[in-house]
Amino acid sequence: MLIGRIRDEFVKLEFEIAHGPLVPHVTAAEIRAHLGSHYAFKQNMPLEEVTADVEAMLRKWQVQVTHPRYFGLYNPSVTAAGVVAETLVAMFNPQLANWRTSPAANEIERHTLGWLAVKFGLPQASIATFTSGGMEANLSAVVVALTHAFPEYGENGLRSLKGEPAIYLTEEAHHGFNKIAHMIGLGRRNLRVIGTDSGLKMNVEELKRRVDEDRRAGWLPCMVVGNAGTTAAGVVDPLPAIGAFCNDAGLWFHADAAWGGAAVVSPALRHHLAGIELADSITCDAHKWLSVPMGAGMFFCRHRESVAQAFRSDITYMPGKTTGQLGDAAVTFDPLTHSAQWSRRFIGLKLFMTLAERGEAGYAEMIEHQARMGDLLRDQLMASGWRIVNSTPLPVICFTRDGLAPTSLLAEMRDKKIAWMSEANIAGTPVIRACITSFRTTEQDIEFVVNGLNELFAEGMHRKTALS
Ligand SMILES: *Cc1c(COP(=O)(O)O)cnc(C)c1O
Repeated sequence: MLIGRIRDEFVKLEFEIAHGPLVPHVTAAEIRAHLGSHYAFKQNMPLEEVTADVEAMLRKWQVQVTHPRYFGLYNPSVTAAGVVAETLVAMFNPQLANWRTSPAANEIERHTLGWLAVKFGLPQASIATFTSGGMEANLSAVVVALTHAFPEYGENGLRSLKGEPAIYLTEEAHHGFNKIAHMIGLGRRNLRVIGTDSGLKMNVEELKRRVDEDRRAGWLPCMVVGNAGTTAAGVVDPLPAIGAFCNDAGLWFHADAAWGGAAVVSPALRHHLAGIELADSITCDAHKWLSVPMGAGMFFCRHRESVAQAFRSDITYMPGKTTGQLGDAAVTFDPLTHSAQWSRRFIGLKLFMTLAERGEAGYAEMIEHQARMGDLLRDQLMASGWRIVNSTPLPVICFTRDGLAPTSLLAEMRDKKIAWMSEANIAGTPVIRACITSFRTTEQDIEFVVNGLNELFAEGMHRKTALS
């Protein structure tokens, strides 16, 4: 009953969002005035009234990221199963810190993660946990990699090491790694930025040279981050070559597949991520291309023991401790002692329920549909004279043309409800970036957007003047 009502409301909302504005025109002062005048919290309010008001604020005052023509920053349209799952989780409020308190929820997560671990080609003995997002998963990867490489790191800290640990990545890697290096006391400069080729892929020869030079200079190279779909341009680094080099050189290979990782679910697309099966650890977000509500990241690691070392905690007040690995049917583990979080919500249910409702083939179709819409957008843009500046089989298209002034064109596109796209900087050039993030985007949407874009550009107002 509840499910039916939620689904009906959700379908109605999806329709209204698809036909409404994409961007809000509101100031902080306007919102604060509303909150100040309605919510002094001195009087109580019926829940119906609060709900209606909050819904009105969300309809008016946000970028509608579930709009089918939101071609934005990996914020997906969400499945109805995901919405129902979030409601169930809130109602039962399971605590997943340890296995004993929530056996059903813990096993549902393990079952779901095990399914995806197989798709990634990881061994049965791997371990995986849900995270708040890709940032926490990447943080986990760095902490586990350091613990693996330097057993003394946990007790005595980085200062006890005989040199400075170094992590290798490209300029295209997610900028969250800078925060991670800062937060854990590694230092931002210990991220060694490796050059890219003309396709923005990591230059593996340069990687080898830098690691060699750093070793000779007394650094302690320990980890390489390979992108399986960069945030700006969807580029997949040469994962097989990075994996082979890391294996030879004794380095931890982390694959950041926060967005692109979902491609492994599709039999047609998975070969684009070849080499990811060599990774020591993988980040993948369910709240991006797997289309469930935020926040749902995932951290996969083939070294169960290093994960247990990195997040160990000798606590006496929690219910019976449990340990074990994904592939071992008889054994369980407590997420509390195998991940960064302590109290832990039931993050994985939305992925489990979407997968159960659509089936593996249905999920693959959702992902492939978005890849097809990306291909269509790319083709139609090229056919009308735009230049594509990134190279990826995934649905992120970065494009420009001579004389384009992207900022004003994008603003007009948003206001006219044509599409939401972002501006990106590719190899020093400002370009337009369009990513298909909704499984509800149709061919008609793509045609509508390309026509709208062409008309606005033809009007001539969004070109640079000769002098600028
Ligand atoms: C989005 C993204 C992240 C960060 O993930 P969040 O879920 O936003 O925390 C990390 N790496 C890549 C490649 C991403 O696209």
